[in-house]
Amino acid sequence: MTVPFQVNDPRGIIEADRAHVWHHLSQHAPYLDTAVDPRIIVEGKGLKLWDITGKEHLDGVSGGVWTVNVGYGRARIADAVRDQLVKMNFFGGSLGSVPGAQFAERLIKKMPGLSRVFYANSGSEANEKAFKIVRQIAHRKGAKHKILYRDRDYHGTTIGCLSAGGQQERNAQYGPFAPGFVEVPHCLEYRKDELGLGHLSGEDFGVAAANLIKDVILREGPDTVGALCLEPVTAGGGVIPPPEGYWPRVQEICRKYDVLLHIDEVVCGIGRTGAWFGYQQYGVRPDIVTMAKGVASGYAAISCCVTTDAVFEMFRDDPSDPLNYFRDISTFGGCTAGPAAALENMAIIEEEDLLANVDAMSDRLMDNLRRLMEKHAAIGDVRGMGLFCGAELVADRKTREPLAEAQVQAVVKDCMAQGVIIGATNRSVPGRNNTLCFSPALIATADEIDHLTDAVDRALTRVL
Ligand code: PMP
Repeated sequence: MTVPFQVNDPRGIIEADRAHVWHHLSQHAPYLDTAVDPRIIVEGKGLKLWDITGKEHLDGVSGGVWTVNVGYGRARIADAVRDQLVKMNFFGGSLGSVPGAQFAERLIKKMPGLSRVFYANSGSEANEKAFKIVRQIAHRKGAKHKILYRDRDYHGTTIGCLSAGGQQERNAQYGPFAPGFVEVPHCLEYRKDELGLGHLSGEDFGVAAANLIKDVILREGPDTVGALCLEPVTAGGGVIPPPEGYWPRVQEICRKYDVLLHIDEVVCGIGRTGAWFGYQQYGVRPDIVTMAKGVASGYAAISCCVTTDAVFEMFRDDPSDPLNYFRDISTFGGCTAGPAAALENMAIIEEEDLLANVDAMSDRLMDNLRRLMEKHAAIGDVRGMGLFCGAELVADRKTREPLAEAQVQAVVKDCMAQGVIIGATNRSVPGRNNTLCFSPALIATADEIDHLTDAVDRALTRVL
């Protein structure tokens, strides 16, 4: 395979990166320590990646952050984006675009009950739009300005999104945060003792966990609560599919207290969980849905905030209030590369029947992880939905004490040395990222799934 950078000055590129790039989510030492070169990815195909040294990797986390749903090297997406960009690359503000209209129509067909798409560029931004919609409605409807978010959920990196952030590690040192955001408890059955629900299991636990949200609404005053923002399956907080009975009860509670349900599909959306959207697997009817990562699989930056007609109608022109329209804009929401890429991305998922592949490969991945759990006492819990699975590592199965992060990282590093990229997350408590996560592209084959879990098996054997 030709790798142009390797031909041209790999050392120069490595040194330029070390000298000038501030890497995301990274401590400095690994990059400033000249004994370890920063790893620079040069090329990808399917689930495979090649770095600047020529080393091959199998990507078990879809671009590190569960994004590249249709895999690397999709020339047809690049071609569609190129054709669109040379024709008309951008117009911002209130004018529309051909791919913008076409993608909105195709997307809405997959989302019965919803009708309007507001374009933006990142998951954080889409969530900010949703929060602003809720706040603006509150200004008209009275005092329902509070937005509830869940412990362990993450909604983005801006101060607004961190205000709705349930992960201590992400929030530490960035406060003070915006007022009017209120936390509700998580719903992780493996950690149900933390919720005082240790005596319940299955659906009883799920309903009781949802009722904890009701308790918060009643405590805050239903007249002050405008929206509840939840991930369908919590991602970075430790890969947490909700327990049985949880979502139907959450929906009932929202209806009863007139609380808008905002579902953050930034990770789950566009196939990751085996349906177009995670919420659809639970029969939920949201008022607002946000999405980003899988929308164009990272081939272009695009996010969407999608609402029902009822929400949209609250912004209808009102002669008595000239400010009653959504006074929001994202400059690059007018970039046509996003919807052009998103149209092809969606076509690929349909034509290759990738949702069916997710179901089949999910079963294989979960079976493999369960087998590893029988073999390795350090795996305390495995959980997942679609190609979105986690294995929580513990120091002691009885006490469920999380495994020290250094050891978890050693497992991840060992996999990396084997040429397999996986992640570790949780972020609920700083220094406790003890859940290995697996989110390969939706095109993963049985061999690739086995390759991933075999590497983890070897890593666990070596490290622990
Ligand atoms: N919501 C969820 C559930 C996420 O996992 C993320 C990012 N990991 C975001 C929102 C924020 O997306 P972005 O990084 O594109 O702003």
